[in-house]
Amino acid sequence: MRVYIGLGSNVGQRAEQIQESLERMGAHGIVVTAVSPMYETEPWGVGNQPRFINGVCQAETELPPDALLQAVKAVEQELGRQPGVRWGPRIIDLDILLYGDLTMHTGMLTIPHPGMLWRASVLVPMVDLASDLSHPLTGRTMREHLDDLGPVPDVALYPPGLPPRNS
Ligand code: AMP
Repeated sequence: MRVYIGLGSNVGQRAEQIQESLERMGAHGIVVTAVSPMYETEPWGVGNQPRFINGVCQAETELPPDALLQAVKAVEQELGRQPGVRWGPRIIDLDILLYGDLTMHTGMLTIPHPGMLWRASVLVPMVDLASDLSHPLTGRTMREHLDDLGPVPDVALYPPGLPPRNS
């Protein structure tokens, strides 16, 4: 199954931790096939905390959704993430954004990730990887959803100055 995983970090060596998480996914049955450019983004939810680095990877996996969630949590823990404040500072945050065309909602797991359609920090790198991909619930493309957000001033390429690889 083709999946998209959101990548985020706002504590410590942010870009390095994201890179480390990508390198560790393979050992957990997640084969990374493409990685977006990285962006520095303004935190939301809880103010007064460091800026995030965010990106998205595309991957192939044979894991069912629940096992995929356990796998991304295992990678988070390998990087030293402790359970903490929701939306607070985090060494690494891995979110399952899309799992093929699957839609599901349980106490543990909601797919597509409910936040993805209103977060520029997700939609900007999603457009880099898959601008014409349709969201399974709305039928609209990633590009259309990003356009719906209007201007996105708080998302800047990281490191600054490098052009996106996919545009
Ligand atoms: P977070 O603090 O953002 O890492 O989210 C923590 C919890 O969100 C996880 O333990 C999951 O049970 C739950 N969750 C629900 N939907 C998702 C999803 N699509 N991807 C990752 N975590 C999810």
